Amino acid sequence: MIHLTQGNIRLNAQARDKTEAIRIAGSLLVDSGNMQPGYVDSMLLREKVANTYLGNGIAIPHGLPKDRELIIQTGISVTQFPDGVQWNQGETVYLVVAIAARSDEHIELLANLTDVLDDPETVQRLARTSEPADIIERLTQPRDGGSVNTGAPADAADDFAKWVDVSLTGPAGLHARPATAFVDIAKRFQSEVRVRHISKVANGKSLVSLLKLGADKQASIRIMARGVDEDAALEALAAAVRHGLEDEAEAPPAGFAAPTLTLQARAIAGIAASPGVAIGPLRHFRRERIVVAVTANDAAHEQTRLQQAIATAKLQLRELHDEVKARSGGARAAIFRAHEEFLDDPDLVDATQRLIGAGHSAGWAWRQSVDERALEVASLDDALLKERAVDLQDVGRRVLRLLADTLEEEPASIAVPVILVAEDLSPSDTARLDPTMILGICTAGGGPTSHTAIIARSLDIPAIVGAGPAVLHQAEDSLCILDGDTGNLYPEPGDGDLALARQAQHEWQALREAERLACYQPAITTDGYRIEVVANIGGAAEAEQAVAAGAEGIGLLRSEFLFLQRAEPPSEDEQFIAYSAMTRALNGLPLIIRTLDIGGDKEVPYLSLPAEENPFLGVRGIRLCLARSDLFRPQLRAIYRAAATGPVKIMFPMIATVEELRAARTIAEEVRVELGAAVVDIGIMIEVPSAVLMAPELAVHADFFSVGTNDLTQYVLAMDRGHPSLARQADALHPAVLRMIDMTVKAATAAGRWVGVCGGMAGDPKGAMILAGLGVAELSMSIPSIAAIKSRLRAQSLADMQALAKRALACQSAAEVRAL
Ligand code: PEP
Ligand code: MG
Repeated sequence: MIHLTQGNIRLNAQARDKTEAIRIAGSLLVDSGNMQPGYVDSMLLREKVANTYLGNGIAIPHGLPKDRELIIQTGISVTQFPDGVQWNQGETVYLVVAIAARSDEHIELLANLTDVLDDPETVQRLARTSEPADIIERLTQPRDGGSVNTGAPADAADDFAKWVDVSLTGPAGLHARPATAFVDIAKRFQSEVRVRHISKVANGKSLVSLLKLGADKQASIRIMARGVDEDAALEALAAAVRHGLEDEAEAPPAGFAAPTLTLQARAIAGIAASPGVAIGPLRHFRRERIVVAVTANDAAHEQTRLQQAIATAKLQLRELHDEVKARSGGARAAIFRAHEEFLDDPDLVDATQRLIGAGHSAGWAWRQSVDERALEVASLDDALLKERAVDLQDVGRRVLRLLADTLEEEPASIAVPVILVAEDLSPSDTARLDPTMILGICTAGGGPTSHTAIIARSLDIPAIVGAGPAVLHQAEDSLCILDGDTGNLYPEPGDGDLALARQAQHEWQALREAERLACYQPAITTDGYRIEVVANIGGAAEAEQAVAAGAEGIGLLRSEFLFLQRAEPPSEDEQFIAYSAMTRALNGLPLIIRTLDIGGDKEVPYLSLPAEENPFLGVRGIRLCLARSDLFRPQLRAIYRAAATGPVKIMFPMIATVEELRAARTIAEEVRVELGAAVVDIGIMIEVPSAVLMAPELAVHADFFSVGTNDLTQYVLAMDRGHPSLARQADALHPAVLRMIDMTVKAATAAGRWVGVCGGMAGDPKGAMILAGLGVAELSMSIPSIAAIKSRLRAQSLADMQALAKRALACQSAAEVRAL
């Protein structure tokens, strides 16, 4: 039971708007020592995601669950606004009951409050009283049984014939959030739903009615249903209550632990690269043999053929990059940009041209030059660099195929699902494979950071790398078991082993299925903090896919998709249609639209961008937008118009200085006024070191920050994110990057702003844990990562993730961080 004292009541207050009213009500709780000032900002943030208007002139602002640490002691304040305050459209509030609740001490008060709700006369009286004692008396007096105050049916005659008894499992009783979840489910059924708690009975489809029950944590309740779908309603509601009504992480079911496999058969040991168990026939991967003549008569002709082959290979790589990016995201596609760079290597081209000059064919000369360089790279000590030899060979083969006289032994396409065995797989090899035909992958060479390992993980295919040459001598079509968790390949399994492996596979599938089924549950940690999990998308159709995969909104819309591969820029109307199609698909979930992030590294003919020596340090992102108002203004107009169709926020990319942000905001405001559009939140991406260092100043002009770890990593470590030999070292888990994120979160928190992360790190399980521990409120990731990341966050406590983040900040390298 909490105490409401005169110090927490303010009478006769006035406020221009809801924000001011919340600040007044919140300051009472700050002054009384119940909470820190930051929780007032959290209350304001919650208004953006939920409506705290209870009804009948009463609102109950409260902060976000993740900010509970800012509450010193549970308390409430009541502020009376006799003239009323406009809350949301059409809602006028006279009593603002601000709540700072660490757990469920305020439940009884909420129950009393909802009694008042049913009684307009009492609200009017309390809205005008000049006696704080009136308010205290009405809200804190213990109420009698349900029949006195609830107005709801309360005797046995009100019970239905079909019912189920359950106990509340959430951390804080049937307060507003879990009761809302209950009502949402109940409303999906036609049947009437009632809930009994001791002597009170509530309408299960009414939030107010449920709150009146005053059911606190672990309370036992009876759910009753009557109607055509009563059984289904009872089943769904009871299951939801047992799972904590979205108020606490579901305890991971037994299947959530990865199964372990111990088999009798002989094993070939390799390095575990992608988890899971595969059972199937073994198939050796073959590449076609490329035949080229050794010599040629016409050197000039061969030089032209070489130039043409290189140009065609570049075009292919660009197409492959775009295709893989659309299918699996930019990070997976980056390798093909890196391949393109190999083709510009003057050493390689010069050496080939010299050999052609000496009388060799273009094909022979090219193969010779590539092999020499690949051999050099493969003999380097650095394991990561060594692996780049595979890339060099891969891009070499691409050009060679174009110079070939004949292609021999073109491999037959795979017709039945197999475990694929190869010396190593290049990015082009994997891009050509049909993933539905690959049960597992085992390579003789390669390491855990090899391309094979990365692709296998992204496609969710169990894989082993570095298994040694023995795997290359196993019989084709023999049945084998591949264990991607231990890194073992079993070429001759017995019946017992097969049975065990099948069992493990079932457990794996159950794990994935459990993650998938739970994908709509919020990511609430075991100690009750919520981390928003949203999606990165780059196209209109993906908004719907994101919601279906459990995304709670879109944290990053890469709007470039509208601008690339076309002859003229998209019109304002075309953009408006695309953005509003997304708000429709999102059906009320938030959409953050990043304004155009493009620069000299992209070929956009209609922009006539000058070639830049260092495009990543040139006119890109917001710099280009500021220089090209012919692009920026129509985009902003389209976004502001789309904002009338759903909750849209604007985000500026690549902000490096306060001046840029101010200039961009000024233009946005001009556009908004021009259109007479409503204000929307404007945030910025933090992806440049200067933005981190200026975060306190930037926070004055930005409503939120979203850290782009892909770019931040490349700029902090000075490593090109697409560089063939550096990209893998440019690991966002490097302590230097983590310290930058830590600084950003601290600066934002001090200014009452929230921080999200939309770079690849948010979708990496290890990264996500550390980011949550650093205080990041929203993780935005590619669609396939959503279910697994949510499930992992639900299995952790914030306290543990904070401890992990602290240790990560103190590490010396990314490898050390990963080893934690
Ligand atoms: C980033 O830099 O982390 C980011 C999300 O933006 P992009 O990958 O589109 O550059
Ligand atoms: Mg970026």
